[in-house]
Formats: sequence, C-alpha cells, structure tokens
Amino acid sequence: MRYISTRGQAPALNFEDVLLAGLATDGGLYVPENLPRFTQEEIASWAGLPYHELAFRVMRPFVTGSIPDADFKKILEETYGVFSHNAIAPLRQLNGNEWVMELFHGPTLAFKDFALQLLGRLLDYVLQKRGERVVIVGATSGDTGSAAIEGCKHCEHVDIFILHPHNRVSEVQRRQMTTIFGDNIHNIAIEGNFDDCQEMVKASFADQSFLKGTRLVAVNSINWARIMAQIVYYFHAALQLGGPARSVSFSVPTGNFGDIFAGYLARNMGLPINQLIVATNRNDILHRFMSGNQYVKETLHATLSPSMDIMVSSNFERLLFDLHGRNGAAIAGLMDSFRQGGGFSVEPERWTEARKLFDSLAVNDEQTCETIAEVFEQSGELLDPHTAIGVRAARECRRSLDIPMVILGTAHPVKFPEAVEKAGVGKALELPAHLSDLFERDERCTVLPNDLKAVQAFVSLHGNRGKPL
Ligand SMILES: *Cc1c(COP(=O)(O)O)cnc(C)c1O
Repeated sequence: MRYISTRGQAPALNFEDVLLAGLATDGGLYVPENLPRFTQEEIASWAGLPYHELAFRVMRPFVTGSIPDADFKKILEETYGVFSHNAIAPLRQLNGNEWVMELFHGPTLAFKDFALQLLGRLLDYVLQKRGERVVIVGATSGDTGSAAIEGCKHCEHVDIFILHPHNRVSEVQRRQMTTIFGDNIHNIAIEGNFDDCQEMVKASFADQSFLKGTRLVAVNSINWARIMAQIVYYFHAALQLGGPARSVSFSVPTGNFGDIFAGYLARNMGLPINQLIVATNRNDILHRFMSGNQYVKETLHATLSPSMDIMVSSNFERLLFDLHGRNGAAIAGLMDSFRQGGGFSVEPERWTEARKLFDSLAVNDEQTCETIAEVFEQSGELLDPHTAIGVRAARECRRSLDIPMVILGTAHPVKFPEAVEKAGVGKALELPAHLSDLFERDERCTVLPNDLKAVQAFVSLHGNRGKPL
C-alpha cells in the first residue's frame, strides 16, 4: 500500500515510512493512495470473530508489503490482549435501537488506547527491523499523553517525552502519566499552558537538529496509524447489530476529526453506514462547517469536555481532500487562504456532498451536564462528558429510528469528575481495579520553564534511555 499527501507535492511513501513520518514535507497529511474495498459477503463472513482477528482483516491491506501476516496477527493479539473487557469494544444499550460503544476498557480508560497501544508495538517492530531508534515529543492536555506513554512503555527503540501544562491537567490524568516509570519515559510539566506545549512540539518538528540525527515521530492523530486502528471498531459495532445486511449510524464526539474520519473510511471500504454525526462542544468549528459551510477559526473556550477543546481540526484536511476529487493543489490553496485569512467555504456542490452523510451539533457545558443526568435517570448508565455530547447529538440529529444508532463512548467517567459532579447524579466514581491504587503511587515528573531551548536540552540529555543522544 502506498500513501500520498493531501497537498500533492510530497513523495508517496509505504506504510513503514508513513508510520515514522509526521506531516508530509509539503505540509499535508498522508492518506492511502487507494482505499481497500470489501464486498458485503466478505464483511458478513467476519461476524463473530474476536476483536483482534477482525482487526487483522480490516487493517491488513494497509500494512501489506511492510509487515508479514503472521507478525501483524501477533502484534494485534498482544495489543488488544491488554484491554480489561473481553469484548474489547462492548455495546451497551441506552434506549430503543440506541447504543453506546464503550471504547474505554484500555489501560488509560479512553479510546486513544485503541490506536496508541498498536502504534507503540508497530513502532518497535519496524525500528527493530531497521536497527533505528526514535524520539517522541508530544503535548497533551490529558488523554493523549497517558495513552502514548502506556503504548510506548515497553518499546525498546522509542524514548518518549510528554509535555503537559504544569498544574493544569486533572489529578487523575496527571497521575496516569507520572506514575509510569521507565528509562525511556519522561514527563515534563511546562510552566505555561497547553498551547505553549504544543508550540514547542511544532518547533521541534520544524528543526530537529537538537536530536543529533535521531528521528522525531508524531503521536497525535495526524499519524495515519492512529486513524487506521480506529476504523476497526466501526466494523465491530455494525457486525454486532446486523450489519452489513443492515445499515448502522454513528454519533462521534470529536475535535480533531480523527475518530469520525475513521468512520467515514469504514463506509468507503464497504461498510453500510447511513449517517455520521459530528458531535462537538462549544469549540464548534466542525459544526459551523457542517451546518453552514463556514470553516473559520475562532477563539478557544475551556469546557467540561477538554479533550475536544480545539480551534482548528487537524484531520479535517483529509476529508477536504476527498471532497475536492483528491486534488492536492486545491487543498494547498485552501489551506493557504485559511492560514492567511482564518477561514474558507467550499463550493456548494462539495458541501452538499458532505451533508449526504454528515450531520452535526455543538453542545455546551450546561447541555452536557443535562444529558449526563438524563441518561443516568433513564438507564442507570453514567456517561463521561464527551460521550454525553455524542448522545445529545445522536438524539437531536438522528434521521431514522429504524436504523441502529451507535454513540462512541470515548472515555470512562472517572477521568472527568468535574462534569459528573456538576451533573448532580450523586453516584460515587470508582477507579477500575487496575488503577485502584493510582492515588497512592509515586510520581515522576520534571518541571521546566516555558522555554524551547530548555526542553530541547532536556530531551537531548536523556533521549537515549536516560542517557545523552
Ligand atoms: C481525543 C478525544 C476525543 C476527540 O478525538 P478526535 O481525534 O478529535 O476525534 C474525544 N473524546 C475523548 C475522551 C478523547 O480523549
């Protein structure tokens, strides 16, 4: 399988190189040159497979030529073997024909484990073969950092540095990162905000000389392997609910358009999906596009669903590429005008095309809490704020009651106690067994000033399993 850039100017890469790449050299994002397409008979024959075997069948075409089947199978079995629920992505019914797909039974209790557990293992496999090492420098406001650290903690060829804003992530989220020890794991608390952290990561990608020749790898959702891993659970849910003979709809809490883009790909690979709902919080750039064809940057608002607090949606470019007939020059032009003027609209036919599949809703904090309370009352299920946004959007935007609606349950409620408290459901939140002693564990973290040079000096001093690069 070959991968091409959404801006049309960077060289095509194979899977291995795409895994190790960040942005393409032309500033675009990598996508498969030709998407695999499965027949209805083929998809139907996968009913009842264990998750890792389904994952093998769905993802195999993407890694062909880079990873032999037997090795890929083994990697997938290990990846999903660390999840704490046998069904890996169980469905829980909330209402008539309405389901939450629980994607929070991985080590860090959010859906990012699906991709980052796999990414760590894929990196180590490929780097072992090449006899290379890489460094990960990532910024997090919460979920990505812990999932990336958990995913890479056993990697022999990866050193990982996660920057979080000092005193600005919740205690559960901080402890999920700082209580994992290893020579190759480094938590850095920056005396600044999340944007400062992210800016330092961007600057480090732009000039990697401080790494003395070691390569920097991206762990955010611009990395194609993350999107790829997320396609699988759409197939998994549909097969549980009568697909592919019957079509299914999904409502997806999203900020960077990563998770829902995976659903869009599942549909293009042959899975009958009737409707995809983009569910955002008050940071609603995606909703403003879907509802009014305006993709315009606005100021950032802090919300009760912080994992979706973004101004610009990094994966949206991948959808725009398809909407423009995969014309890289057109996307380069749009992105240029976005950078200069802060916004654009697309031609009406292209927008109409998107709207055939996508609907959207923006949900504020008050409505989020209302929904947590409402669902708890109706079914006894306690939702995290991101998932609650998905439920709210599903209920308001649903096109057909006859088609099963699946809401992606992106996190466990224990990660977001503030929203749950505000919703006033009066149920105590309990950490799952494998994290029950989280608050007693020792922490390891280095506080650094908001200074790029200081961070880069730290990385180069510790980037080789605690030793200098
Ligand atoms: C990361 C995250 C999201 C948003 O994911 P996208 O990649 O923006 O689609 C939603 N909910 C939770 C809990 C998350 O951690």
